[in-house]
Amino acid sequence: MNILFVASEVAPFSKAGGLADVAGSLPRALKIYVSSMLVITPLYGIIDQKKYKIKPLEYVGKIWLGQKTYPYSIFEATSDSSSHAPTWFIRSEQFFDRQGIYTDESGEGFPDNNLRYFFFQLVIMDLLSRKIIDFDILHCNDHHTGLLPALLKLNGINRTTVFTIHNFLYHGHFSEKELGLLPESLGRTFKKTQWSNYSALLEGITHADIVTTVSRGYAKELLAGENLDSNSIERLQALKNGLTGIVNGIDTDYWNPGVDEHLTFHYSPNDLTGKSQNKSVLLNHFKLSPEMDMPVIGSISRLVENKGFPLIVEVLEEYAGQGVKFVFLGSGDPHIAKQLQDLHQRFPNNIGFEDGFNEPLAHLIEAGADMFLMPSRFEPCGLNQLYSLRYGTIPIVNRTGGLGDTVLQWSPGMGTGFLFEPYRVEALRESLELALQTFSIKAEWVALIKRAMSQDFSWDWSAQQYFKLYESRK
Ligand code: ADP
Repeated sequence: MNILFVASEVAPFSKAGGLADVAGSLPRALKIYVSSMLVITPLYGIIDQKKYKIKPLEYVGKIWLGQKTYPYSIFEATSDSSSHAPTWFIRSEQFFDRQGIYTDESGEGFPDNNLRYFFFQLVIMDLLSRKIIDFDILHCNDHHTGLLPALLKLNGINRTTVFTIHNFLYHGHFSEKELGLLPESLGRTFKKTQWSNYSALLEGITHADIVTTVSRGYAKELLAGENLDSNSIERLQALKNGLTGIVNGIDTDYWNPGVDEHLTFHYSPNDLTGKSQNKSVLLNHFKLSPEMDMPVIGSISRLVENKGFPLIVEVLEEYAGQGVKFVFLGSGDPHIAKQLQDLHQRFPNNIGFEDGFNEPLAHLIEAGADMFLMPSRFEPCGLNQLYSLRYGTIPIVNRTGGLGDTVLQWSPGMGTGFLFEPYRVEALRESLELALQTFSIKAEWVALIKRAMSQDFSWDWSAQQYFKLYESRK
């Protein structure tokens, strides 16, 4: 069984969020089950070509898009393959050679994002029609790859297509005019949304043979039509083979407090000394007062409303006033960044905020904080709560999607974290109170840390579920 896995971001090469983590680690986990695995992704200007020994292959070509042709060439990562599956990159000076994945340095989305991913998908089709690549299963991820299932079908290419929804919020809407740039047959197949445009996400769902999403809880919420427009509900309910929820795993080699390359102090459930040493480094990094007995609550997140920031800013003042410490790492919405910056200025000893994307600091927060705050309004799977559990950093989460599937409510001697519902500030406050009370009972807290750290979120089980799905279509 030969698999082609296509994604717009793939860790460790490029990363904007959880999609990259999954696209980096799932293909590696699947490698042992399948005959061949190839990942294809764009070669963005931000990718460190030296570090990953990214070299050109002999394949070059050009793509018609509208009235113009755009050249492409193919590169390959030749660095030690233990950190990544075999990966090819599509180089395009016009579309990908930029200092950002989806946005420019100021955080603005590129105005030609639709065109960029149309191009990406047409290159995949070109490679296939020129027999440079072939596969039994094409695994597409999110709207950037949503046209491929239809493109394959319309070209009479009989291969199984899998489409995974990592986040239903992002549709990749495109206009009638943009549709006109694509092969004509798509125009006859695609259906307009209720806003009179088209959705790459919905077309992926409609034309793929198998549709999955990244947790059972999220699959249920989507099928129940929670917060969805009528058009989306219709398309999801029309799925012949249903919507399969498979929870994401994590890369347990890279996210391992025992050997983490980004940490000076390592630790394990049997010896937590390193965890408190990391706490001290963390407090120092954010220049917070070094009160080791006070709980530190961490957050690493894209700064967007649905990650729960409206609730967070409502409780910050109260708890920071009591001496609880908060550390935030995130980039995104300038309004949220300003709110966090203002709160940091008012409570410089208790609230730390770094605006930006910082991988080593993300690891330090996971290791050094006592608790991890993730009150997302909805969360398809969520990875940070999984990293937090592995690092003994107790998650406080809204009971939604993957958060509800992976965190077990604490009660004396049981559970791995604190869940609240509904999505209201009073419910969050109650959960925080319980977490803070539990933190003050040392033996109970240490037992909780050990339970959290012993949970298994490796990819083994989930990769097997994907493999079974692939096999079911043979
Ligand atoms: P989403 O994909 O919705 O952003 P996830 O929790 O699934 O949320 O995954 C987010 C991933 O991105 C995690 O690996 C998280 O550590 C990482 N991340 C998010 N923001 C930052 C940041 N500012 N700096 C470093 N890593 C970040």
